[in-house]
Amino acid sequence: MKITSITVYQKDLPLEHPYWLSGGRLRFDSLDATLVKLETDEGLIGWGEGTPWGHTYVPAHGPGIRAGIETMAPFVLGLDPRRVLEVERAMDLALPGHLYAKSPLDMACWDIAGQAAGLPIADLMGGGSRTPRPIASSVGAKTVEETREVMTRYRARGYIAHSVKIGGDVERDVARIRDVEAHRAPHEIILYDVNRSWTRQQALRVMQSTQDLRVTFEQPAETLDDIAALRPLHSAPVSIDECLVTLQDATRAARDGLAEVFGIKLNRVGGLTKAARMRDVALAHGIDMYVMATGGSVLADTEALHLAATIPGHACHAVWACQDMLTAEIAGGRGPRNENGHLHLPEDPGLGVHPDEDSLGDPVAHYA
Ligand code: MG
Repeated sequence: MKITSITVYQKDLPLEHPYWLSGGRLRFDSLDATLVKLETDEGLIGWGEGTPWGHTYVPAHGPGIRAGIETMAPFVLGLDPRRVLEVERAMDLALPGHLYAKSPLDMACWDIAGQAAGLPIADLMGGGSRTPRPIASSVGAKTVEETREVMTRYRARGYIAHSVKIGGDVERDVARIRDVEAHRAPHEIILYDVNRSWTRQQALRVMQSTQDLRVTFEQPAETLDDIAALRPLHSAPVSIDECLVTLQDATRAARDGLAEVFGIKLNRVGGLTKAARMRDVALAHGIDMYVMATGGSVLADTEALHLAATIPGHACHAVWACQDMLTAEIAGGRGPRNENGHLHLPEDPGLGVHPDEDSLGDPVAHYA
């Protein structure tokens, strides 16, 4: 089987509510999605998606994905999409780094490989659990009262996992954490996500003054060096996601004991092929995981769900449904959807959901 063409679509995915990132980063109200269609000489078609979480969050952006695909396309055309490692090496040879540009192509290859094998991607990767995965909420509220209101709304929809965004004012962060913990149900999974916006000193003040609660902080400071420097000075469990880009990041964090949790974001780390290695590093070192898209439609959520399904349930805390934050629908309601706060693995071979091509407009590039 050979890849005969690569067709690229750009789609704006408006957010239901504009999103402010903490730490002075810019507001955005829409995500720039790149959808990729791979066609083969045997008639199988695979789809991939790459949708960064805005342009100002981390070094990844929509136009960069499309430029990267233009550079990599001549190296990928003609390859067998079922040989995902060969496609991965071809992309790494053609364009070192730029992992976020590679993930949609990797995803489309896995989609085709699954269809060719007659298996959902998770089963092709070695076996996918059918236990529904809890979806993490995204609680971007500012005050104690707003936080309570937003979490109450999520709980009413069945959510048991919550990512509470903190990282503004230190005193307010402590007050919000204490209030959330006071109202926490016994089975709930709660992560306090700082998104790198504390200085080391701010991180220490919050982490030390909430030590009695044993809560988990995600990305409490900018870099792995910062997290390593803070490490001996507090006892809180730490999750890393924005610092978890390469396999070397994962092995360093595991070896040096920098994190108890990995937040694996498929687009950031370069797709399923590379993410699966991080999963194995995590499992080998007793590190738990959240598996998520960086953003995007039901396609991106489904890709992450497939990887999550290959992780034993006790080690996989939650997935995400970014689709619930969007006003655009590109798959006609098909694919895994929020059911009482959980996503269910699709049984169709491959990814298990494809977009309505008509909803994507005209392609922005075609390589053959
Ligand atoms: Mg995070």
